[in-house]
Amino acid sequence: MAKYSIDLKAGKVAEDKAVSSRGETIVGIDLGTTNSLVAHVKDGKAVAVAGKDGKSVLVPSVVHFKSDGSVVVGDAAKQYLTTAPERTIYSVKRLLGKSYSDLTEVKDRFGYRIIDENEDRLVKIAVPDGDGRAKFYSPIELSARILQELKTRIEEELGTPVARAVITVPAYFNDTQRQATRDAGKLAGLDVLRIVNEPTASSLAYGIGLKDEDEGRTIAVYDLGGGTFDVSILRIEQGIFEVLSTNGDTFLGGDDFDQAIVDYWRETYTLPVNTAEQRGELRLLAEQAKKFLSGEEAFVAEYRGRELLIDRATAAERFTPLVTRTIASCGRALADAKLRVEDVDHVIMVGGSTRIPLVKRTVSEFFGREVNDSLDPDQVVALGAAIQADVLAGNQQDVLLLDITPLSLGIETVGGLMDPIIPRNSKVPTRVGRKYTTSVDGQVKLKVAVYQGERDMVADNRKLGEFVLTDIPPMPAGIPQIEIHFYLDADGILRVKATEHRSGTEQSVTIKSQYGITEEEMALMLIDSLHNAESDMQARGLAEARTEANNVLLSARKFIRQNEDWLTTGQVSEINHFVDLLSEAVAGDDKDAINNRLAELNEFTAPLAHEALDRNVAAAMKGKDLTS
Ligand code: ADP
Ligand code: MG
Repeated sequence: MAKYSIDLKAGKVAEDKAVSSRGETIVGIDLGTTNSLVAHVKDGKAVAVAGKDGKSVLVPSVVHFKSDGSVVVGDAAKQYLTTAPERTIYSVKRLLGKSYSDLTEVKDRFGYRIIDENEDRLVKIAVPDGDGRAKFYSPIELSARILQELKTRIEEELGTPVARAVITVPAYFNDTQRQATRDAGKLAGLDVLRIVNEPTASSLAYGIGLKDEDEGRTIAVYDLGGGTFDVSILRIEQGIFEVLSTNGDTFLGGDDFDQAIVDYWRETYTLPVNTAEQRGELRLLAEQAKKFLSGEEAFVAEYRGRELLIDRATAAERFTPLVTRTIASCGRALADAKLRVEDVDHVIMVGGSTRIPLVKRTVSEFFGREVNDSLDPDQVVALGAAIQADVLAGNQQDVLLLDITPLSLGIETVGGLMDPIIPRNSKVPTRVGRKYTTSVDGQVKLKVAVYQGERDMVADNRKLGEFVLTDIPPMPAGIPQIEIHFYLDADGILRVKATEHRSGTEQSVTIKSQYGITEEEMALMLIDSLHNAESDMQARGLAEARTEANNVLLSARKFIRQNEDWLTTGQVSEINHFVDLLSEAVAGDDKDAINNRLAELNEFTAPLAHEALDRNVAAAMKGKDLTS
C-alpha cells in the first residue's frame, strides 16, 4: 500500500510560513465516523472544546434535514436517527471519496438513500424535502456541515474568526478520500493546512515524535471507535512518521459491542422488539450498559416494564470474540511491517471503545507492555491534531513541517483532457515522470501544454505555459518514447522537461506555478471542480469516445487497404458503411451514439480480423517444415 507520512523537521518554506502565521490560532479537527471534535492549544496545552452548554466536547457526526429545510448537526440531529432515518445522515465518513460501485457491499446498511446513477462517480445521498422531492447532497457537503458546526464552536470559544485547520484522516485513506476531506474543509470556510493521519496525531498527543530521542521508535496505535477498528504501526524516521502498515475492520466497533448486549438480553428475556423505535430504544440502553460497565460491575435498567440486567463478566464473555478479532488484526499489521511484538516501543489506545477494561487488558497482554491510556481516548486524535496545528502556527520550536502543493499540475492530452502529473496535496519538493507517445504516424513535434487545476478538461483549468518538443524522428504512431518530468521545488517553481528517448531530443521550461494565485481563487477553482463534476464527466466521456473512435477509423481504413486482395466487395462496402456511420457519430456530440457505432463496427470487423490473422499465419508457415 501507499505510504503516507508527515515531516517534523524540514525545509525553508515551512519556516517562512510558520513565522508569517505566528499568533493566529490554527485548530485541530478529528472528523470521526461516529463523533467529531475540535481542539486547540491553549497556554501550551492541547484542549478539546465543548459546545455552548459546556456539556460535551463530542459532536456526533450526524446531520439532520428538517422538513422545513433547516439543518441541524450533532446532538440535535442524533435524536432523529430512529424517527426520521431517511433525513438523518450518519457515518458519512464511510462514503467520503467513494463511488457507488465502491459501496456495493455496504450500501444497504444505511437508513438513508444513496443514489446509484453514475456508478463510477462520487456518490450522492438523496434526502426527501418537505414536499417529498429529493435533494441531493455529496458526502463532501455533508462533512462540511459537521466541520462548520465545529468551526462555529471554536469561534465562540475564542471570540475570533478561525480560518485555518488541520484535519485528521485514517492512515488507510487514499488520495481521493484525503482530497474529499480537504474539499469539505474548504466548503466549510476552512483553509486546511494539513491532512494528518489519525495514528500520527495520536502519537503527537502523547508527545511521541516531538523529541530527538523518539528517533527510530516504533509505535502501535490501536483505535477502536464506534463503527470501525484500525491498527497502525508507525516508525519515526528522520523526524518523519512513516506508516509501516495498517490493518483493521471497517465494520467492527462500539456498535457491535452494543449489539452483543442486545443479543444477550434478547436471549435471556422475552422482550417485545417489533418496531424500529423499540429496536432503537433497546440499542440505546445497551450502549448505556456498555459504558456503565466500563466503570462499574453491574447494570440494571427498565425496558417496557421489564427489568434488564447484565454484569461485567457476562459482558466480557460476549465481547471476547470481537476483541479477539481486533487482536488478529494487530498480528497481521505486525507481520506486514515485518516486526514482532518486542519491536514495538509504544502502544497507544484511541477511540471511545478502548475504555472497555477487557479491551485494554487484552491489548496490553498481546503487546506484552503497558498501554498509553492516560488521555481521554475520545479526544486523543483531536488533541494531536491541535498540537500539529500549533507546530504549523510556529508556536513550537525545532519542529517544522514540509509544505504541499494546493492544486494539481498536469498536461493536456489528446481530446483536450487534463492529465494530472503532480496531484494536489503532494509534498514539495517532488519530481514525477510519466511516459507518453505520439498519436499520428510520422509525428515529429509534440506540444506540451502545462495546466493547473482540478477540472477534467484543460480548457477549464489555468494554463501555466507550453513548449514544443521538436526533432522527434519520424516513426509510426505509438513508437516514440517521450518522457515528461515535472520537478516542483520547495518554492513552488515548476520545471517541466520532455525527452524523446530513442533520439535523445530534450526540451524544458521553467514555470512559477503557485504564485499569482490567491487563496480565494484556489477555493473558487476547487468549488468549481466540485460543481462541474457531472458535466466534466460527460465532457471527458465524449472526448475519450471520440479519441477511441478516431483510432478505430484509422485502423479500419488501414485494414481495408492491407487486405483488399481477399476481402469481397460486399465485405468492403459493409465496412465502409459502418465507417461512415461512425464518422457521422464522431462529428456529433452524443457519446453513446459514438460508442454504439464503434461497437457495431468492431462487431462486424472482428471475424474478418481473425481471418486476416489466420491467413497471415498460414502464409508465414507456407513452405516451412515444422518437424525440423
Ligand atoms: P469514532 O472514531 O468512530 O468517531 P469514537 O472514538 O468517538 O468513534 O467512539 C465512539 C464509541 O465509543 C461508541 O461506540 C461509544 O459507545 C463508545 N464508548 C464511549 N464511551 C465508552 C465507555 N465508557 N465504554 C465503552 N465504550 C464507550
Ligand atoms: Mg476516531
